Amino acid sequence: MALDEWEALSLDAACPLADFRDRFAIPRREDEELVYLCGNSLGLMPKDAKTAIEEELADWQTLAVEAHFSGPRPWWQAQEFVREDLALLAGARASEVAAMNSLTVNLHLLLLSFYRPTRERPAILIEKRAFPSDRYAVVSQIRLHGFEPAEALIEVEPDEPAGTFSPEHLLAEIARHGDRLALILLPGVQYLTGEVFPIAEIARLARQIGCFFGLDLAHAIGNIPLSLHEDGVDFAVWCSYKYLNAGPGAIAGLFVHERHHGQILPSLWGWWGHRPKDRFAMPQEFIPARGADAWALSNPPVLALAPLRASLAIFREAGIERLRAKSLALTGRLQAELAERFADSIEVITPRAPARRGAQLSLRVQSGREEGRRLFALLSARGIVCDWREPDVIRLSLAPLYNRYMDALRVLLALEDWRKAH
Ligand SMILES: *Cc1c(COP(=O)(O)O)cnc(C)c1O
Repeated sequence: MALDEWEALSLDAACPLADFRDRFAIPRREDEELVYLCGNSLGLMPKDAKTAIEEELADWQTLAVEAHFSGPRPWWQAQEFVREDLALLAGARASEVAAMNSLTVNLHLLLLSFYRPTRERPAILIEKRAFPSDRYAVVSQIRLHGFEPAEALIEVEPDEPAGTFSPEHLLAEIARHGDRLALILLPGVQYLTGEVFPIAEIARLARQIGCFFGLDLAHAIGNIPLSLHEDGVDFAVWCSYKYLNAGPGAIAGLFVHERHHGQILPSLWGWWGHRPKDRFAMPQEFIPARGADAWALSNPPVLALAPLRASLAIFREAGIERLRAKSLALTGRLQAELAERFADSIEVITPRAPARRGAQLSLRVQSGREEGRRLFALLSARGIVCDWREPDVIRLSLAPLYNRYMDALRVLLALEDWRKAH
């Protein structure tokens, strides 16, 4: 049963998505390719990203201002060239998604629209170990509305020993606080544990309660298939430099459900949110674009959109369902091997049930933080790029576009050696 080189090579050879690895630049140390398991933090560079940026530079060089309205991809429509692909990954209608800004900026813009606290319902519910930026954003919005976090911030504690949330517990906690909630803000996939949250169930409960439900999809988009429209999520935000491989600080995205389109929600306005029909007639009165575009403020950074366009084209070819199938098998195999062979020394925090995890596994060394640091150093010395999250978590992500069973094997071999020395 233990994965060996022969089996890893055969599984990689049989993988229908194997060729996609060549579309990415695999980082090297000296002459050797690294085992890159940090796609949950910064996805690898698609080789096409360079071409895509060069195309825009060439338009700037030869067309200059004319490139706004001519050439194969007129700049004034730059968002259009990523919209359909983003909608596919988000499980949304095209009008429900848009690429703009960065994640935290988009979160603030949408909180301004969807967080409308009242004396009776002042609260935002988040999870106890929310990503710090999300918590900062929420606390500052609570203060902006004249409330105090002590009364208006509810942080739900996990119930499982690994520090994860059983769906029953999470839903019961939401229901328990229901009549005080203005908004629920949760991740699609939790950054530390890698667990998937039950999006459809939370959305249903939020509607029963009568509060809004927003999602942070930083670790979910491009990792698990999403169906934001079907599920009835009110809004969502994501960044594009993790599983979406669009490069450091890439243009982020947002989703606003169709049922909120065309309504006058409180929001900040800029000329790029004005309807496209007469934006360039420079009217004094703001008339919002329909859909997610209404939240756009400025004309899009075209050079920064180029790698996103290149990367999304790869996702379209590969298909998120096929990627998920590979991800379930590949990450599932590593998880099973860890459970069977290393249960005495390593705890996998990430839930075992396929529906409750994505590509990432989060490990904790049972003998404590010091030994955890030693293991992390050993992995790194072996050319395995993963990351450490305080206090004691090692995160590994097998991204199905470019990771292989050979990568999983390299991890297992390193762990064997660590255990011998340990
Ligand atoms: C990576 C990540 C972010 C990043 O926010 P930026 O504004 O893009 O820097 C935010 N939230 C979560 C949960 C993340 O994992």
